[in-house]
Amino acid sequence: MRNDYNFSIQKLEDFYGDVKDVKETMNVCKNCGAKHTFTYDSNYEDLYVQEIVICAECDKPTKSYIHIIN
Ligand SMILES: [Zn+2]
Repeated sequence: MRNDYNFSIQKLEDFYGDVKDVKETMNVCKNCGAKHTFTYDSNYEDLYVQEIVICAECDKPTKSYIHIIN
């Protein structure tokens, strides 16, 4: 597990509104409006995936999640 990010569990409550609103929440940076870049690191031994969401324009991770895959 990478320790340089503060990972959290993604919650359904984080996404609300219509399809356009949810897509914008997931894909667009709130700071500058640029599209996010997603990277994934899978750990099949412990059954989780780390998702890191980065804005290339702001040049910093905006979100980081752990997804349990069991
Ligand atoms: Zn940005």
